[in-house]
Amino acid sequence: MKITDIKTFLMMAGAPEAHTAGRPGTAAWSNRNWCFVKIYTDEGIVGLGEGSGWPRVVQTAIEDMKPILIGEDPTHIERIWQKMLVSTMGNGMTGTPGSGAMNAVDMALWDIKGKALDTPVWNLLGGKVRERIRVYGHAGTPERALQLKEQGITGVKAGGVSRTVDKVEAIRKAVGDEMDIMVDAHGPPWFTAKDAIMVGKALEQFNLLFYEDPVPPDNLDALRRVQDNVDIPIAAGERSSHIWGVRELIEDQIVDVIQPDSGRIGGISQLMKLSAMAEAHYITVAPHSGSLGPIAEYAAIHVMAAIPNALILERVHDDVPVRYEVVQPHPESVNGYIEVPNRPGLGVDIDEDVVARNPSQGNTVRSGSSDDDAYEPGTYDEHVYFQQRYRRQKTMRTTR
Ligand SMILES: [Mg+2]
Repeated sequence: MKITDIKTFLMMAGAPEAHTAGRPGTAAWSNRNWCFVKIYTDEGIVGLGEGSGWPRVVQTAIEDMKPILIGEDPTHIERIWQKMLVSTMGNGMTGTPGSGAMNAVDMALWDIKGKALDTPVWNLLGGKVRERIRVYGHAGTPERALQLKEQGITGVKAGGVSRTVDKVEAIRKAVGDEMDIMVDAHGPPWFTAKDAIMVGKALEQFNLLFYEDPVPPDNLDALRRVQDNVDIPIAAGERSSHIWGVRELIEDQIVDVIQPDSGRIGGISQLMKLSAMAEAHYITVAPHSGSLGPIAEYAAIHVMAAIPNALILERVHDDVPVRYEVVQPHPESVNGYIEVPNRPGLGVDIDEDVVARNPSQGNTVRSGSSDDDAYEPGTYDEHVYFQQRYRRQKTMRTTR
């Protein structure tokens, strides 16, 4: 079999309601795009993949790699992956967009191999450890947590560093002890390691499933200090690319839960290697979602079906209707679990008309405007990555 052509599909995936609510005139505040790829072969088999990590740049990177991919036998996945990696050296290696591009291609190659052998991708990865994948949703309020609980969801994650302890306390009170609760601090650089430890200690009483990105991912020593001082499992890794990007997190056991983004970690091949590295250190795998599209979600489901140390899958519920329109079939979660698909390959296809009806509008986040406290010192709208944390007691109460 030979690769004959590669096409990319870039689409606007909408700005989630939660990101635009209360921000007048900021409909494009948090544009998300999804980049899908189709790899065509001389045997008529077509493989589907997805790459995240600045999708419009990912699209260009895939187009750039096309000449080194056409003519290759798509069943030699590792060989092609290595060829792509070496091709990025002159650009300073992959970065996140390069890894996203390789991710999309790698995923499509696994899809092709599954279709060629008439078997699901999970079967190529060693077979099923489980039939269903547990998912969790996002809840910033007790009301939202209860809504998800009514849908059968068994885990919720609250985000941010603003009044987190209050938020978690209210959610725990509302949902009871049956649900798992997680906290994602989103690694803000104005949240010092000491801040993360203070908040983490205050959160210990709520018995969280994990405390995610308590400090920015750029500083492993700060994360290590949080790990050493807070008795909650620590999670991180969503911004990393390939196994070298997560090596220290895993080998130094700085995390208890590793969170690869199945759109930019480098593909199904890298997800499997990462999972084995984690397994050797008793670390569980909880793939990241958020900006991801539904094809990368399928990849995560196949991998989680086949690895022993899968913990739980992040899932953005009810964010944009187009998520449900662009793929067939869309994996439904029933009572908090997604059934592992048994169709050949990944078992999913995209609706190209839906992609065409939702053209990309760029992918940069526009935070704030002159209407909403923009440039106020010590707030996110200041547009400064490293900020001072003012009004500490108001935003991050840690005592009761
Ligand atoms: Mg996160």
